[in-house]
Amino acid sequence: MEQGDNDAPVVYLHEIRRQYLQGDDTLTILDGAKLGLWAGQSVALVAPSGTGKSTLLHVAGLLEQPDDGEVYIGGMATSGLSDAERTQIRRTEIGFVYQSHRLLPEFTALENVMMPQLIRGLSRREASQRAREILAYLGLGKRITHRPAELSGGEQQRVAIARAVANAPRVLLADEPTGNLDPHTADHVFNALMQIVRATQVAMLIATHNMDLAARMDRRVSLADGQVIELD
Ligand code: ADP
Ligand code: MG
Repeated sequence: MEQGDNDAPVVYLHEIRRQYLQGDDTLTILDGAKLGLWAGQSVALVAPSGTGKSTLLHVAGLLEQPDDGEVYIGGMATSGLSDAERTQIRRTEIGFVYQSHRLLPEFTALENVMMPQLIRGLSRREASQRAREILAYLGLGKRITHRPAELSGGEQQRVAIARAVANAPRVLLADEPTGNLDPHTADHVFNALMQIVRATQVAMLIATHNMDLAARMDRRVSLADGQVIELD
């Protein structure tokens, strides 16, 4: 858990192994991977396609169970939890942003950002107020009644970021969030992510191929032979 800071990591991946069966073969994608993520720290995960970036994010986000090893969230081991308990942690502690926005097309930006809060049990009034605040904070105050199809690619991604942090997670995982965007828009969306990290002290891990953006983050890691390596 080497990091300048003595605080405990928000997420700690310990000796993660993840394998997929491919016909008669077993593909070992992660093989003893270790990674700590700290509050307020932005970390770039830069590695070639097919090396296991998405797999690592899914394991860290409790979307996939590792075959071996342990995922600690806030110091708590998660492998022994029930599906319901893992789902609860995912809803309250973890935000996910994907390469495509994955917003619900028939709902407005506001409703999309309210949704995870309603699922968690907040009232419509509380959810609406917080959704308005986050959208305004990300420069989307005039877009709240727009449906996804009525937004630009960059706006859609910023709504997706707002949705990911609607429940004030401690971890924000983004899987090539600017991969579909032109450089100028990518910059704008990246700035929104960094703005969220500074404002909320969330721990952020972004899988990206964009070296310019990676260079602007606090720390860079890669994947080699199924293990996480520190860059720089
Ligand atoms: P990356 O995000 O770095 O491109 P992935 O984590 O998506 O890599 O995938 C890593 C490897 O695992 C790839 O070779 C991919 O084909 C394989 N893989 C991913 N998911 C599955 C799955 N559900 N079943 C079989 N193989 C998979
Ligand atoms: Mg991927």
